[in-house]
Amino acid sequence: MVVHTDVNLLSVLDYAVNNLKVNHVIVCGHYGCGGIKAAMTNHDFRYVLNMWLRNIKDVYRLHREELSAISDEELRADRLAELNVKEQVMHLSKTSIIQRAWKNERRPQLHGWVYGLKDGLINPVFEMDAGNHIDPLYEYDDL
Ligand SMILES: [Zn+2]
Repeated sequence: MVVHTDVNLLSVLDYAVNNLKVNHVIVCGHYGCGGIKAAMTNHDFRYVLNMWLRNIKDVYRLHREELSAISDEELRADRLAELNVKEQVMHLSKTSIIQRAWKNERRPQLHGWVYGLKDGLINPVFEMDAGNHIDPLYEYDDL
């Protein structure tokens, strides 16, 4: 998850991009994810877990129409895993850390992958790089 208030994530991202000068940032989810399945229920998982699962519920809401049309629960969860990874990559692109690096150094490339625990295969579902435009609402114009 790429949560914009997660200082742990942002500090690691900042260090990787600005000190280690990484060329790639990967968000990797996995099929058959218990966290995704939990977010699709209405069960009370209490305090911190509810707070974290809320982020996935928000992704579900954005794609409710597509997801609701998938009757098989496993397949619906796997599709949500893909859509969630895409959303988290877009969250990365909304940070000033990524936007500044894109502007000044045309890197890093952002990747959204979903890993298959059953077959060991990685499914690349989404990519973004310095050439991509993002929603202007989130674009910093004075970096
Ligand atoms: Zn999982």
